[in-house]
Amino acid sequence: MEKNKEQILRAPRGVEDVLPENWHLWRKMEAAAREEFELSGYYEIRTPIFEDTRLFVRSIGETTDIVEKEMYTFMDSEDSSITLRPEYTAPVMRAYIEYELYKTKKFQKFYYIGPLFRKERPQAGRLRQFHQMGIEAVGAYDPLLDAETIDVAVRLYNRLGLKGYKVKLNSIGCENCRPGYRKVLRENLNGYKSGLCENCQVRLDRNVFRVLDCKQESCKEICYKMPPIDEYLCAECKSHFGIVKNALTDIDIPFVVDPHLVRGLDYYTKTVYEITHPSLGARDTICAGGRYDNLISDIGGPPTGAVGFAAGMEATMLAIQNTTNVEMQCVASLPAPMVYIVSIGDETKTRCFSLLNKLRASGISADLDYEGRSPKAQMRTANKLNTKYVLVIGPDELSKGIVKIKDMQTGEERLVEQADIMDALKT
Ligand code: ATP
Ligand code: MG
Repeated sequence: MEKNKEQILRAPRGVEDVLPENWHLWRKMEAAAREEFELSGYYEIRTPIFEDTRLFVRSIGETTDIVEKEMYTFMDSEDSSITLRPEYTAPVMRAYIEYELYKTKKFQKFYYIGPLFRKERPQAGRLRQFHQMGIEAVGAYDPLLDAETIDVAVRLYNRLGLKGYKVKLNSIGCENCRPGYRKVLRENLNGYKSGLCENCQVRLDRNVFRVLDCKQESCKEICYKMPPIDEYLCAECKSHFGIVKNALTDIDIPFVVDPHLVRGLDYYTKTVYEITHPSLGARDTICAGGRYDNLISDIGGPPTGAVGFAAGMEATMLAIQNTTNVEMQCVASLPAPMVYIVSIGDETKTRCFSLLNKLRASGISADLDYEGRSPKAQMRTANKLNTKYVLVIGPDELSKGIVKIKDMQTGEERLVEQADIMDALKT
């Protein structure tokens, strides 16, 4: 019976499948990230996909877009609310505190690669399940560490062959200097209140820094008129920022200071940064990070300085695909098995199956037909798969205990004893 189209179940809006032929790009990106992160002494950490909702509310901030409207939150029992992780930093810090990792070694470096969930309006490169690769350096206040994390991100993009990205940098101060700037910002923005979007009019009272992160053009224009934060930074924040900038200049990383950059999460202090790519249009951030010296103590740990970034993997992939990186764009190809076994007649099937098992056990990739197809059709499959060798076992080979090996490149055929197959394939 033909299925009605409406009966076919589809993936929910805003989530994507990665089909086998597209995996090579993801694997390349993941491999590059692992190599680059490990080269700089970061170790992988995997945290659960869901966490206690309070972790995100407390760390990201109650008046941020993520917590106010983007989280997938539900009750898993009458009194316990859980949330699919919308970001990685808080879970990693939760683990750092929960396992008292600071007791063995205060300074630790972590990296992660994996999926995150935010209820955003799906659009190009913006999904409800998306992926990030990122690092966190925990346990130091040294501004050189801020520069190190930017250096790691830049090296990762270079390794991926991405051209044309831009590093944007700012300092958003600390608990000493931020209140002063908050006041100035609120006073100045109040004069433009009617020009701000509805959300920002509320943000003005609740969390004025969020206005600076608004993506609406009209709000952005007003924000550019605001006095930049650098005039209000305390001496310590100024000096910290100066060292970060000098370090980047020293290691030849070009950057621009964007005095209106604040990022969408409340926990940042001092350095914040973004890497953008012009090919992505209005939402052009491919990587974002910064220092967060109060987060660990805010969620119950000891006072600990930390800095890190998260790179959006879909955004990175789009940027790469929009530019001319031939290697990353190479035509999808699934890996071919080295050997395809063609069986002639039903009675040879179990012998073929045990041969398949032996080949794989000795590390040779091999496959055979499970669809009951004719020997001719099996040969066609081997051809399509582009295998190096075909092994043929028919009733004759079966009775004599031999196998026919065909080299698919040269067309040459040989008869070998079963026991000699492995050696024959190696030559
Ligand atoms: P943005 O302002 O770019 O939305 P954000 O402040 O909300 O970012 P971050 O965790 O700092 O959140 O995002 C880091 C990067 O992760 C983003 O720049 C983007 O590349 C990627 N990212 C964030 N949200 C999504 C999403 N819904 N879909 C795909 N990628 C995303
Ligand atoms: Mg966002």
